Amino acid sequence: METVLRSSSVISSSPREPTVVTTVAELREHVRSARQQGKSIGLVPTMGALHAGHVSLIEAARRDCGYVVVTVFVNPTQFGPKEDLQKYPRPWEDDLAKCRDAGVDLIFRPDVAEVYPKPFFTVVDVTGISEVLEGAHRPGHFQGVATVVLKLFNMAQPDIAYFGQKDFQQQLLIRRMTKELDLPLEIRTCPTIREPDGLALSSRNVYLSPEERRSALALSRCLRHAETRLKSGEKDLAAIRAEMKKILSETPHVVPDYATLVDPETIAELSTPQREQVAVVAAKVGTTRLIDNLPISLPQ
Ligand code: AMP
Repeated sequence: METVLRSSSVISSSPREPTVVTTVAELREHVRSARQQGKSIGLVPTMGALHAGHVSLIEAARRDCGYVVVTVFVNPTQFGPKEDLQKYPRPWEDDLAKCRDAGVDLIFRPDVAEVYPKPFFTVVDVTGISEVLEGAHRPGHFQGVATVVLKLFNMAQPDIAYFGQKDFQQQLLIRRMTKELDLPLEIRTCPTIREPDGLALSSRNVYLSPEERRSALALSRCLRHAETRLKSGEKDLAAIRAEMKKILSETPHVVPDYATLVDPETIAELSTPQREQVAVVAAKVGTTRLIDNLPISLPQ
C-alpha cells in the first residue's frame, strides 16, 4: 500500500491502478514518458498466472527502478506441440490484482499477432546452452524463449530486467544472449520462492492433484539431499546423482527426466565437486512436468 497524492488533491491509500496496454506503440509511448520524467525502467517478463515468485521479481524491480513494466504473454513459440499451451492458466483478473498490489506501473499484455505478425522468419538461437538439460527434453523451447525475450527487451527497452533462479538455465541463456549481443541492459536473477514445505512456486502447480502435490515434494527433497551429501564431504557425484534419481523414482506418480549437478556458468555436468555448483532436477509428476534447482556452495 502507498499513499498517493492525486492531481485532484484527494489522498488515497488504495494501490495505484496499473496502466494496461496491448500494443508495442502504446508500451513505447508510456516508457518514453517515464524516461522523460527521469525514471529508470525495470522489466519483469512473465506468462501470467502470477504467484509470489513473480511478485518477488516485481518487488525487486520496484526497489531498484522508478517505473516497473510487467509483461503477461503466454509465448506460443516456447511450447512444444504436445505441451500445455492451450490449457496454460490465464487468470487475468487475479494477475491484474497482484500487479496492482505490488505497485506495477504498466502491464503489457499483447496478443500473439502483436508479437509475431505473420509472416515471421527470425529466431534467436543461443547455441550449446539451449541443447542440454531442459533443451534436450524440450526441443525448440529455448529458441522460443530467447526470441521472445529479445523482442520484449527491444519493445520495452528496460534498464534492468528481472528473472527467477527457478528457471536456472533460462536466466543463464538470457545473460549470455545479453552479453554476446551487447544488449544495453542489466539482468538480475532473484532467488527461488518456495512453499513452506519446500515446493518451488510454479504456475503449473495448479495442475497437481492433492496426491501429486505431495509427490512433487520429491523434487526439492532430492535437491536438499544432494546439498546435505556434498556438505558432509561426499566427493562421488555419480553416487549422489544415483541417490537423487532414486528419491524421485521411488515416489509415486514421479517419473524423472534428469537429476544432476552442473557448473553454474557452463551448465556442464560435473564429475567432481567444486566451490559452486547447481543441483538441477526435472520430472513429470502425473502429467505435469516440473523443474527445480538449488545452488550449492562448498567451503574451499
Ligand atoms: P513464467 O511466468 O513461468 O515464465 O515466469 C516468469 C518469471 O518468474 C521467470 O523469470 C521465472 O524464473 C520467475 N519465477 C517463476 N517461478 C518462480 C519462483 N518460484 N521464484 C522466483 N521466480 C520465479
